[in-house]
Amino acid sequence: MTQGTQSAPDERGFAAPQITFEPNFQAWRKRPGEPRAQSQRGRLIGKPHAGNGAIIIGAMNESDHTNNPVNSAASDADLAVLARDIRHWGAELGFTAITIADADLPGAGEGLRRWLAAGCHGDMHYMTRHTAERARPAALIPGTRRVIMARMDYWPGTSALPAAEALGDGTLAYISRYALGRDYHKVLRARLQKLAERIAQAAPARCRVFTDSAPVFEVALAQRAGLGWRGKHTLLLGRDGSYFFLGEIFIDLPLPVDTAEPGHCGRCDACLAACPTRAIIAPYRLDARRCLSYLSIEHPGPIPEPLRPLFGNRIYGCDDCQLACPWNRFAPQSRIVDFAVRHGLDRAPLTRLFAWDEAEFLERTAGGPIRRIGHERWLRNIAVALGNAPAAPEILAALRERADHPSPLVREHAHWALRRHGTGNAD
Ligand code: SF4
Ligand code: SF4
Repeated sequence: MTQGTQSAPDERGFAAPQITFEPNFQAWRKRPGEPRAQSQRGRLIGKPHAGNGAIIIGAMNESDHTNNPVNSAASDADLAVLARDIRHWGAELGFTAITIADADLPGAGEGLRRWLAAGCHGDMHYMTRHTAERARPAALIPGTRRVIMARMDYWPGTSALPAAEALGDGTLAYISRYALGRDYHKVLRARLQKLAERIAQAAPARCRVFTDSAPVFEVALAQRAGLGWRGKHTLLLGRDGSYFFLGEIFIDLPLPVDTAEPGHCGRCDACLAACPTRAIIAPYRLDARRCLSYLSIEHPGPIPEPLRPLFGNRIYGCDDCQLACPWNRFAPQSRIVDFAVRHGLDRAPLTRLFAWDEAEFLERTAGGPIRRIGHERWLRNIAVALGNAPAAPEILAALRERADHPSPLVREHAHWALRRHGTGNAD
């Protein structure tokens, strides 16, 4: 997932298993890399189901987890070799880091309960479900012993118009850097699935892959796995910044765990100061209802009027808290081709994007994360940005074009924008 509530999980419940492998006990005794007969590999007995974010590649009976003779016979040396190989395979698949956490997050649920009680989750009602399971992966997927955390970088670096330039030109649309390329759900899931398949070929492991598809305390797990620390903006970051996605594999083998990373925010509060809406109401505490990322992506209704001027030209997501973070000076440029900028979205004029009809919206955003908000919210967001843009004739003409749009949501935002420009063509 893109991390944190700024880009809240796209979790709508639990996914069904996609692929199941029969037990492969013999392979476990072989060291990875040793030649292995095809017949020793897990045999595919289930067919993939579409439309969910998880797979199971199993090699043992879930119910016999604690008594499984093969897993209990695995030596520490076997497990250490497997962990080393998982990192190696992960690197081959484009993951910047692979780390391992145990499957327990004591006390992690308490902060969520306080956050929910304060209503900071806004319309993300799915966050209220499965709160107990979030802190206990083994309660979510019985038999889980470890969580393999995977990091994949998305920062476009010099391949995109610099964020400051895009934000500084009110006629251009600003789209969060993570959303300029292909949909990370698909990219991450496909590669995590390959990694899980490789694990299942090497060991009798039952794996389940998640990319925003389950209620998981992803940042807490990643911190416990030594992947970084939770910053005051609530996202995970490391010494080379926070511009990365996270995915995870639940596994029922007791792999050796990594050491948790202590926090390195110190006395810095740059993210709190940079947030346009003061959505970071205290260090490590975000009120999603004020967050531009939440409002532009998750929130289905009208944008609260007092917050509209604070959107500037941001039409999908917001990066300000990350752009302000000193650790992001060291962020590496992504080498994942799938995350390369598509359709010139790093420098697109607002008026051009506002002119897309629904068919063009669907065509241009196919395979990308933006598609999930739909054409109506797309126009709503751009109308707000046009209301904040310089009052040029083409801006006003674009807004007038949409002033009679069939959607009351779009109409209302277009009229608001026109009023903001002091025109009389409003309701
Ligand atoms: S800067 Fe503020 S509004 Fe923007 S993503 Fe961060 S918390 Fe949300
Ligand atoms: S901007 Fe400063 S306080 Fe915020 S996450 Fe980065 S280091 Fe931590």
